[in-house]
Amino acid sequence: VEWSGDAIRRRFLEFYAARGHKILPSSSLVPGDPTVFLTIAGMLQFKPIFLGKEPRRVPRATTSQKCIRTNDIENVGRTARHQTFFEMLGNFSFGDYFKKEATTWAWELATKEYGLPAERLWISVFEDDNEAFNIWHNEVGVPKERIQRMGAEDNFWTSGATGPCGPCSEIYYDFYPERGSSDVDLGDDSRFIEFYNLVFMQYNKKDDGSLEPLKQMNIDTGMGLERMARILQKVPNNYETDLIFPIIEKAASMAMVSYAKADDATKTNLKIIGDHMRAVVYLISDGVIPSNIGRGYVVRRLIRRVVRMGRLIGIRGDGHGNSEGAFLPSLAEVVISLSTEIDSDVESRRRSILGELQREEMRFVQTLERGEKLLAELLDEALLNAGNNGNKPSLSGKNVFLLYDTYGFPVEITAEIASEQGVTVDIEGFDIEMENQRKQSQAAHNVVRLSVGNETEIVKNIPDTEFLGYDSLSASAVIKG
Ligand code: ATP
Ligand code: MG
Ligand code: MG
Ligand code: MG
Repeated sequence: VEWSGDAIRRRFLEFYAARGHKILPSSSLVPGDPTVFLTIAGMLQFKPIFLGKEPRRVPRATTSQKCIRTNDIENVGRTARHQTFFEMLGNFSFGDYFKKEATTWAWELATKEYGLPAERLWISVFEDDNEAFNIWHNEVGVPKERIQRMGAEDNFWTSGATGPCGPCSEIYYDFYPERGSSDVDLGDDSRFIEFYNLVFMQYNKKDDGSLEPLKQMNIDTGMGLERMARILQKVPNNYETDLIFPIIEKAASMAMVSYAKADDATKTNLKIIGDHMRAVVYLISDGVIPSNIGRGYVVRRLIRRVVRMGRLIGIRGDGHGNSEGAFLPSLAEVVISLSTEIDSDVESRRRSILGELQREEMRFVQTLERGEKLLAELLDEALLNAGNNGNKPSLSGKNVFLLYDTYGFPVEITAEIASEQGVTVDIEGFDIEMENQRKQSQAAHNVVRLSVGNETEIVKNIPDTEFLGYDSLSASAVIKG
């Protein structure tokens, strides 16, 4: 491999360091900002500076930020480009340079440093951002046909429901230029990949949705490391890059299957394992312990998903000869061995990370088999009933709750297994059961339903909320407190 993930990361940071940027460390996956659930982008550690609440310490900075996006969980293994855990390389200007420098440097980095052929790069700009359009066309020299104007959904970036935001401009790589340049849809995942987003951060979005100009013009960018690795390493998806693939290979060898020869379902499961293992190792390293509340529930859900997928593809035992042993620690070892340049603290937390995974896996396995048996029976029953009365097959809220409460099945796992058989689950009914139980245990019962935008999760009152995950249709987080 000519361009290792580590080399790509280093080149990015060095490129911007040579242009006056201070290289700063990644911040934790658990943001200091209590209104933000998990770190979803490189800009979060700089939010107070963008908002003018804190003075800037340097005018320019560059980072490689660990990120978690739970809103991409459903995409993992299904698109070629989404993980829940990824690294976002970024360059930032705090009231210093603006569009022109950001644009020309991004282009220079992509074409000269990484050597991407200019004619394979496509640009998107916010629909009425003529300034950005003109810079790309006149200064950089990108032909008009390869610059597309897009709406707010893709090209107006907000870090959350409120906060710093602005129009953005993205760079896409074209895997199939031979398909021509008429009727091109940059959203077509089979042809293009968005790898670099330049945000021209110039507004603060207020509670009432209005945009207030910031005192300074800022630059906030994000380049997905695994996406650039995928392009430069010429592999079909992010998972097959050197940043993730060793974990997949380990899982495949423990299951005694070959990734190359595996069927699509097994490949998808292996990709999910590769992604989720990274997510849980870095989350635990940053102090998030599996639990039923808040961020801990994210870790628990990801771990349980890996356990289930591992069993599905045939992993039995711990990989060290103990057939009753936990397998997550063996996979975590691989994640940790790859962590040096991502986060140098992970190695020193090895023991507690492995211990946490071991405990959580054993805890889950005890009930998993019984739960799976029960769920299989309930699904048969649902299918039979539906066949008899002509309704769509569905699992009742009571049963989903039983699986959750007695068998430790996260709702999403129940929903996932059910959907594999064409059965839906009654999430509302489940919510009612949860609520009843809560009332009985006299817990606080104010329910907050927060809708999660494309980019973020905002959680109020994290300490006493219970994160129940996402309902896959609306992708809205269900938070109960
Ligand atoms: P997409 O449209 O592909 O979902 P995005 O527009 O949501 O990406 P941004 O919020 O612009 O992504 O984030 C900046 C960059 O971070 C992206 O251009 C991409 O390279 C990378 N990135 C975003 N989400 C993911 C993810 N789930 N997995 C890997 N890389 C990601
Ligand atoms: Mg996008
Ligand atoms: Mg984007
Ligand atoms: Mg996205």
